[in-house]
Amino acid sequence: MKSVGFTPIPERINRLVDISYNLWWTWHPEAQNLFRRIDAKLWEDVYHNPVLFLSAVRQVSLDAAATDPDFIKAYYEVLTAFDAYQVDTKTWFRQTYPDKIDKPIAYFSAEFGLHECLPIYSGGLGVLSGDHTKECSDLGLPFIGVGFLYPQGYFRQTINQNGDQEAHYVKVRFAEVPAQPAFTDDGKEVVVSVALPARNNLPDRRVYAKVYKLQVGNVPLYLMDTDIHPNATEDRELSARLYGGDQEMRLAQEMVLGIGGVRALEVMGIKPAVYHMNEGHSAFLVLERARKLVAEGKTFAEASEIVRKSSVFTTHTPVPAGHDAFPFHMMDRYFPTWHHQLNISREEFLNLARQDQSWGPTFSMTVLALKMSGKHNGVSKLHGEISRKMWSWLWPNKKLDEVPITHVTNGIHTETWLAPALKTLYDKYLPANWIHNIDDPDIWNDVDKIPDEELWDVMTKLRGKLVNFVRLRTRQRMQRLNYHPNDMQATANLLNPNALTIGFARRFATYKRATLIFHDTDRLKRIVHGDGVRPVQFIFAGKAHPRDEPGKNFIREVYHRSHEAGLAGHLIFIEDYDMNVARHMVAGVDMWLNTPRRPMEASGTSGQKAGLNGSPNLSILDGWWAEGYNTKNGWSIGDPEAEYANEYDQNHADATSIYELLENEVVPAYYDRDITGLPKKWLAIVKESIRTVAPQFSMTRMIKDYTTDLYVPSMD
Ligand SMILES: *Cc1c(COP(=O)(O)O)cnc(C)c1O
Repeated sequence: MKSVGFTPIPERINRLVDISYNLWWTWHPEAQNLFRRIDAKLWEDVYHNPVLFLSAVRQVSLDAAATDPDFIKAYYEVLTAFDAYQVDTKTWFRQTYPDKIDKPIAYFSAEFGLHECLPIYSGGLGVLSGDHTKECSDLGLPFIGVGFLYPQGYFRQTINQNGDQEAHYVKVRFAEVPAQPAFTDDGKEVVVSVALPARNNLPDRRVYAKVYKLQVGNVPLYLMDTDIHPNATEDRELSARLYGGDQEMRLAQEMVLGIGGVRALEVMGIKPAVYHMNEGHSAFLVLERARKLVAEGKTFAEASEIVRKSSVFTTHTPVPAGHDAFPFHMMDRYFPTWHHQLNISREEFLNLARQDQSWGPTFSMTVLALKMSGKHNGVSKLHGEISRKMWSWLWPNKKLDEVPITHVTNGIHTETWLAPALKTLYDKYLPANWIHNIDDPDIWNDVDKIPDEELWDVMTKLRGKLVNFVRLRTRQRMQRLNYHPNDMQATANLLNPNALTIGFARRFATYKRATLIFHDTDRLKRIVHGDGVRPVQFIFAGKAHPRDEPGKNFIREVYHRSHEAGLAGHLIFIEDYDMNVARHMVAGVDMWLNTPRRPMEASGTSGQKAGLNGSPNLSILDGWWAEGYNTKNGWSIGDPEAEYANEYDQNHADATSIYELLENEVVPAYYDRDITGLPKKWLAIVKESIRTVAPQFSMTRMIKDYTTDLYVPSMD
């Protein structure tokens, strides 16, 4: 393990280095607490990054910890769990598929959301990939992740005095994050290359990517970085930002991901049995695999058959424009010799992924992935249906319900998202081994055994913690913007720690309708005021894509509403939505609001995190909620079957439904207190939410489904 640049660590606690370099700590709060105990302020200043922490911590703090018996005790407890985890031979996969343990599954994704200190994710897709990777480690799958290590990552968001979103790209120094260069067996750093055509003032050339390794529990994650010598400046920028740049850059990025990724695994001697393309970004991997098979003497038909049999593809978007597609003339430039190498004609090559658009024929990454994989799925039941409809033209001889696109509904990695205070309650009242049986619904029936007082006590504490977090974040923002000290002082009373608190946090894409609750502002004002005795408050967060002007307008509107008389004090926007903000919000709010325009939300997962943490959902019956809602565990907005003449009518109907639900059901249940002050009716809904959401929408259930239905049948 590397410890260059670290403060010398007393021998007695020097395995903190091992812990810091295995992202296992990201889902073990007790491991994070070791760092917090050494220096709580520094832990916040380094944004919970243990590698940076160990390079910045003062010697005296480490020495103090090394001689503190309580710290040493906690340290050994963490180490014991950490070491046991790495040699566990009783994992689910090993016990269920003992003969498949040497059949690696390579999982390709353009983003991985593992932790806030690694900003290489933009939102739902990335967080899903990160959770997927963690759970595969927990369940013992022979699993390998492949992606990009973006030196500038996704942007950090600030909001200026006008309510405008400002995007900041912060350089990530790889020496300061839990990543290390990957090496081949004979000790060479892994560097791969992909040929790119001339562009602007650049000649035909190869672009090189250096491969880094992140250890995620027992799963290695290989991430490529093009910001290296001898790449030209423009090529060094290729992987600089997530979803930055134009079509040309995106095509080049996807070539590095798919083609470079396959080459990286080969250099390291890894021979996957299954390739999983998480979204179409990595679909070029099928071409590289086929190319190699043809070079070994197979016909293209034989090669395709092998590739297909061992490939799994998951599609994530029900929005046609969300699927990458490149015009043929670009493909001709970027893949000039590939049809020769595949031993097929240019037309056959282009037809592998042909999708005719209004602007001409394109090479669609989704079509390529669908045609060249044996198993394909959407990410919720409803999204499966939508996907079958969307892509039915690829199977002209099949009836709609026979189109071979299935679904596996998304889930969340429980230990990443469960608030520690609630975990303590679950440890106390659920069966002893619940953490190893998260997907078993019976385990969760015992939620009813949690005494209402204890549950309410924890929820009150978590809400208070969130309110403090919001106050701190708001103060920091005001400081940055040079607000008057009196204004900053006022943040001490911002929000009401005892009011019904509703969370809304997601990407500000317009179909998610963040501003829907402002449809009738007077009615909303009456609701939040609650006659002074039943107050309601909203916490908003979320980023808009830097080029999404309507999305940025939504942020501006929420920001201005939060200063409007009658709403101010009841509505706040927190900057820079990321996994840290998400964790605080899903744990601390009382209810989770989700208002997508059905059926645009493929699945959604933030509401699952809220549900697990005892915050029922008030949501459109879209994505996962169409499966999760059972009439007792939350609320469904609007009429899912209704057809509307226009978007205004749909907004009007859905907003009215939200107001009615708040006025007639949510607020009355929340504020109906017994003589001891407990909201019994509310807590019944909370428990039903935990009981139903926690098992069914766990990553444990999801990975078992992927393994049984998709991965294992794709192994030869
Ligand atoms: C969970 C999560 C998401 C995905 O949530 P949706 O339900 O898809 O909106 C996005 N961003 C962050 C930071 C998350 O933690």
